[in-house]
Amino acid sequence: MTQSILVVNCGSSSLKLALFDENEKKIASAIAERLNGQDAFSRIDGDKQPVTLPTNPNHKQALQALVSAFLERRLMSGAPTSIGHRVVHGGETFREAVLIDDDAVKAINSCAGLAPLHNPVNLAGIEATREQFPDTPQIAVFDTAYHQTLAPRAFLYALPEAYYSDWAVRRYGFHGISHFFMANEAARRLGKAPENTSIISAHLGNGCSITAIKNGQSVDTSMGLTPLEGLVMGTRSGDIDPGLFEYLRTQGVAVEDVHTVLNHKSGLLGISGQTNDMRTLCELADTGHQASALAIEIFCFRLAKYVGAMMASLSQLDALVFTGGIGENSVQVREKTLGHLQLLGFIIDTDLNEHHGRHTDGRIEHPNSSFPVLVLPTNEELVIAREASRLAQAY
Ligand code: AMP
Repeated sequence: MTQSILVVNCGSSSLKLALFDENEKKIASAIAERLNGQDAFSRIDGDKQPVTLPTNPNHKQALQALVSAFLERRLMSGAPTSIGHRVVHGGETFREAVLIDDDAVKAINSCAGLAPLHNPVNLAGIEATREQFPDTPQIAVFDTAYHQTLAPRAFLYALPEAYYSDWAVRRYGFHGISHFFMANEAARRLGKAPENTSIISAHLGNGCSITAIKNGQSVDTSMGLTPLEGLVMGTRSGDIDPGLFEYLRTQGVAVEDVHTVLNHKSGLLGISGQTNDMRTLCELADTGHQASALAIEIFCFRLAKYVGAMMASLSQLDALVFTGGIGENSVQVREKTLGHLQLLGFIIDTDLNEHHGRHTDGRIEHPNSSFPVLVLPTNEELVIAREASRLAQAY
């Protein structure tokens, strides 16, 4: 029997599915967006006909509709061999991917307070496919798990100890599935074993984080208790002075409003006053829009500072790696960022950078650079499919 692995990625208001065969080839993918709203929309990639959804569909309904559409269109011939779910927060409970049983569901639920927008919808996806395919092994792959190797000096905040022991306040880190993929893919491209490879991985999408990876293991990362800390992002501020909350309180601004602004109205959007989309910002900056140029400048400067900070965790550096929509595609962001890092020995080759390293196996550094610099497409779905396939064998 041919194997098929279904990958389920439930976001706060969206859902993405991918179906892989046993040779790790993606056979089909689908997306549902604006869930829980009247304008919810869903389609299978490459298919013009949208998939019909109930009114105001929730994640479970959308997932079941899309899986039924896969079956009707014979993209799937029956139950998949295994199902991998992306789960955002595994707290300190999950250090690696797990087979899902009732205990795992309870434990994922108990981490929901740390990711209230994500873990409940991840669980809705798990519930939907467990109902639809009760005999298929289901696997949870966590965004936080890869960072569970952080030492206390990297994961503890300088707060009273009780904040950690009573409330689990610590740095968890996110985008772990992507950073793990980068660690392995960079090692492969460099012809080294992952366990002997140390990189700095910059995942720059609408959310952005950077991770120091020492001999294949995460040793420091920029996102913290929540995915708000660290780099400047599309709509998130990244690092700010926590004194901001008290100052704005004295100005009559409620804590909830500051929280909303930091998550949804800051970052590239906040600075530019225009958009959270880097490609559009670059176009606006080219036409002389000052605030857009400033947003790009602040984004790159913060990123460069973090590259420097991540070097403090490493004793060798085999490559700086760029990935995510911005990391993979923005010539300008990579050039500006590395321009700040010449003192550390990074030198970019402008021609290779223009071509995103496509003809040089991802390499974009100048021959005189002290360190290789790579541009690599991430593939989180593939990591989830591989983990699902691996753990299903133990089922
Ligand atoms: P992601 O969340 O990984 O899909 O990344 C989304 C971000 O990548 C958005 O800010 C896009 O504007 C950005 N992006 C995609 N393509 C380009 C491009 N060619 N140049 C600059 N930014 C890009």
